[in-house]
Amino acid sequence: MKNKKGVKMKRIVSHAVKLDHYRASACLFWCFDNRFQSLVGRLMAHYGYKDVDEVKVAGGAKDLLHGNLAVRRYILGQIEVSVRLHRAEEVILMVHHACGAYGRDFDSHDEEIAFYVNELNLVETEVVKFAKTKRLKLKVRKIFASHDGLLELE
Ligand SMILES: [Zn+2]
Repeated sequence: MKNKKGVKMKRIVSHAVKLDHYRASACLFWCFDNRFQSLVGRLMAHYGYKDVDEVKVAGGAKDLLHGNLAVRRYILGQIEVSVRLHRAEEVILMVHHACGAYGRDFDSHDEEIAFYVNELNLVETEVVKFAKTKRLKLKVRKIFASHDGLLELE
């Protein structure tokens, strides 16, 4: 099938997308590791979120801290876009158990959690700094996705 501009395409799916504007409950940084995808719905249900702007990158929040300057600027910029377009007021920073993007081995689960708690705190500092620079009002939540559920840092 060709459209009026001569572009050739074929429909592979028919589905009505709801185009109403939405307000994002949060901008969510989540690792693209599909094993942890089912926890997004559980997190949204827990907080009563309706819509989130999901930024899926290897390592979740990792590259907000460890990415090179261009990567950090790009993914931090996603927060600003989420706030400006969808008025997000929260940022969710997620890291998870056995993350291949980190590629680290730990002697115990407690050691792993301690490592990721430190990571999340460091990432939070970066996000808070960014938000201040851009004059964005944001609450930050720090999440560790484990093999048996979600833990939020207090
Ligand atoms: Zn991962």
